[in-house]
Amino acid sequence: MRNPFETEERRAFHDSIARFMETEIWPHVDDWDEAGSYPHEINEKICALGVFGFDIPEEFGGLGFDDQHMRKAAAVEMGRSSAGGVMASVSSRSIMLKPLTDLANDAIKQRALPELLSGRKGGALGITEPGGGSDVANMKTVAHRDGNEWVLNGQKMFITGGMQASYFVIGARTGGEGMGGISLFFVDADAPGFSRTPIERKMGWWASDTATLYFEDCRIPADHLMGEEHKGFYAIMNNFNYERYMMGAQMLGMSIRLFDECVAYAQERNTFGQPLIKHQVIRHKLADMSARIDAMDAYLNQVAELMNAGEMPVTEISRIKFFCSTNLETIASEAMQIFGGAGYLRGNAVERIYREVKVQAIGGGSQEIMRDLTVRQMGL
Ligand SMILES: Cc1cc2nc3c(=O)[nH]c(=O)nc-3n(C[C@H](O)[C@H](O)[C@H](O)COP(=O)(O)OP(=O)(O)OC[C@H]3O[C@@H](n4cnc5c(N)ncnc54)[C@H](O)[C@@H]3O)c2cc1C
Repeated sequence: MRNPFETEERRAFHDSIARFMETEIWPHVDDWDEAGSYPHEINEKICALGVFGFDIPEEFGGLGFDDQHMRKAAAVEMGRSSAGGVMASVSSRSIMLKPLTDLANDAIKQRALPELLSGRKGGALGITEPGGGSDVANMKTVAHRDGNEWVLNGQKMFITGGMQASYFVIGARTGGEGMGGISLFFVDADAPGFSRTPIERKMGWWASDTATLYFEDCRIPADHLMGEEHKGFYAIMNNFNYERYMMGAQMLGMSIRLFDECVAYAQERNTFGQPLIKHQVIRHKLADMSARIDAMDAYLNQVAELMNAGEMPVTEISRIKFFCSTNLETIASEAMQIFGGAGYLRGNAVERIYREVKVQAIGGGSQEIMRDLTVRQMGL
């Protein structure tokens, strides 16, 4: 569908990312996935595209402007690459950049932001714990003040990019129970009392590094508290809005790739004396997929406009997160059907995306939690 919000500048940005992904990522996705890792220089190459610099001042290596349509274009191309694991690890910096830019002191920003934005160093966000991820307000990791330091104790689980990262944004309890007792901290990977172990054998995102983080009397300087004490929950929730919007756009890209793969395969595969694409049942599946893709695209564009106008449409972003993931589940399942047995073999984008659907439906706010938030935002 024609994008009514497209401009020459946005199109050029989108094309430059598509070109990069198609030449530098697509040919290697399967090998990297099987290897369970990707070359480190990919971090720097993707960062050089400028995809993480939105809304970050130029003095820290950012772009000095923001545009949700461009953010969306970058995420769509990441999704279309079908390299979910690589993109998850490279993009783990993106989900900690907003609190870092908004809340960290200038010394931390001057030290960390240029390194994160250039891809020389990695970053990760640690919210989820072994005891749970949905109930953020109930996190158990604690931090107490000891002289000129904070002392952290607890664990974080499922942390994307957590093995490569040099810098972390970590949520910890500094006050009483519930959302009013949580603060955010900047933690260096070499802080005393910090350690990490990899989480292996994931269903998807094979090329990504996922970690459990351990804080055992982990000491960090007092000025590594980010923002106001006990106000971390609200920063976490605000940050989630950006993450969820980007995940929606990534799911749109994954869906577009599935559709394109299906069209190509259905044109070339013959059954009962004619190409698969001539069978009405298959044609209807493609029609249905295309309508779902347009609906996701239109929704994302509309919300991008609202965000560009300075609004934070929390309800719509929650809807986008579960709407896109339920559509992706359907499209991925139908794509597997169109591929038949060939889809069940490893080494193709349809199979890879199919096993990366669930992390999109669960991570960053599950479908259940997103529906719950939507209804609450509606005042019900
Ligand atoms: C590959 C991967 C990468 C991740 N990366 C990160 C990361 O970088 N940083 C980070 O902090 N976290 C990360 N996560 C964690 C992710 O955000 C959580 O998995 C997610 O928030 C759900 O938390 P949980 O797994 O603890 O499930 P739980 O909170 O235990 O929930 C289990 C199930 O119950 C449902 N449920 C929970 N409460 C309710 C309720 N009140 N009503 C109805 N249903 C409910 C949930 O929707 C879910 O389906 C990652 C997860 C994965 C799998």
